Amino acid sequence: MKVEIISVGTEILMGNIVNTNAAYLAGECAKLGLVCYYQSVVGDNEERLTAEIKTAVGRSDVVILSGGLGPTEDDLTKETAAKVMGKNLVSDAKQRQDISDYFAKLGRDIPESNWKQAMVPEGSKVLYNPNGTAPGIIISEGNVHLILLPGPPSEMKPMFEDQVIPYLKEVVPDCLYSKTIKVCGIGESKVASILSDIISKQTNPTIATYAKPGEVHLRVTAKAADEEEAKRLVKPVVKEIKNRLGATIYTTREDVTLEQDVVELLTANNLTISTAESCTGGMVSSRIINVPGASDVFKYGFITYSNKAKRKLVGVKKSTLEKYTAVSEQVANEMAKGAAAESKADVAISVTGLAGPGGGTDEIPVGTVFIGCSIKGESKAYKYIFSGNRQRIREQATSAALTVLRKSVLEYYSKVTFSDKGSPISF
Ligand code: ATP
Repeated sequence: MKVEIISVGTEILMGNIVNTNAAYLAGECAKLGLVCYYQSVVGDNEERLTAEIKTAVGRSDVVILSGGLGPTEDDLTKETAAKVMGKNLVSDAKQRQDISDYFAKLGRDIPESNWKQAMVPEGSKVLYNPNGTAPGIIISEGNVHLILLPGPPSEMKPMFEDQVIPYLKEVVPDCLYSKTIKVCGIGESKVASILSDIISKQTNPTIATYAKPGEVHLRVTAKAADEEEAKRLVKPVVKEIKNRLGATIYTTREDVTLEQDVVELLTANNLTISTAESCTGGMVSSRIINVPGASDVFKYGFITYSNKAKRKLVGVKKSTLEKYTAVSEQVANEMAKGAAAESKADVAISVTGLAGPGGGTDEIPVGTVFIGCSIKGESKAYKYIFSGNRQRIREQATSAALTVLRKSVLEYYSKVTFSDKGSPISF
């Protein structure tokens, strides 16, 4: 099945908004194993939109449009799509009711123009919109499925996830089954090189890699006549990937995040954790605390941005700061040990680095980050050099801190050994 995405809106063409909808939709289709061959952007212009839709339905099986379903005159996606597909617009009773309810809830009169949103192409499937007034529409004709979605991502994404994915799974002739493998501690290119032979000969299942800040996610997707057969195809590939990537895989569960895995690991080992953060300023503790159940393991979060805070709160020695500077292995170690001692936590993680943009030198360039981990009074620090802007460096440092924490706890308590493939220094 070939998918095509059309983003409608003059704002996108003018560069006023970034086309995140297309990126989202393409990513979601890839996850379903559907191939997206074309993406286009067209303004709010009937003639050009007509041409675009005609071309798309002539060459693709699933055409997804986003935007232009609003109540104003220049919102013409639905009207244009209906015309191209030869459908009249008819009033939809449930949609009329939804519009009345929506405005009643807001305590506002219904603008006359909004009734336009109750008109749907005859015979189409209406995707009711709990987050706005524009319904989505699916017009299917033979083997072509034209899917119209509202522009605002907060309306489009839940509609896609809750209503379009189940629809696509039904109409795709094959059964699609995927398994996600989440990896931390090694970068995408290293993962790709470790798996290069199986990635290069992939057909069914397919293996897709997704780079995330400090992580790589792999999705193995098989197509088969039924789910059992698809699972049977996926299984040996996942097994081989597990063999090769070993302990750098932190989960194969779709909904588990790195911080959740870390909290589960600490809980399982009955350990408490504290943090001492300089350049990440609380981002590591925030990610840990975001996990329900973190209160069982999280003790203190020290934000030790200034040298004074490093000395006062977690006992970094003045002499260490003077001799090695704040961005050093020695300071990272003292921060981790001090945070553990001050809070009486079993484990402490520290981050000290230079997020830039200014302040870099030849010895300590912008992006240099040291991450320390103290377990039972012993500490080890790792050096990283990240690239990107200040925010990106801080995000990568946060993920690296969680990775170091996971690796250290696994090595110390579960006696898991990481080969050099799993070194946390290899981002
Ligand atoms: P509305 O009911 O709000 O009028 P609509 O379906 O007509 O929705 P548009 O008017 O095209 O959608 O876009 C509304 C807003 O949705 C835009 O101002 C923008 O913020 C967001 N949006 C639209 N298309 C995209 C896109 N492709 N990527 C990201 N955001 C988008």
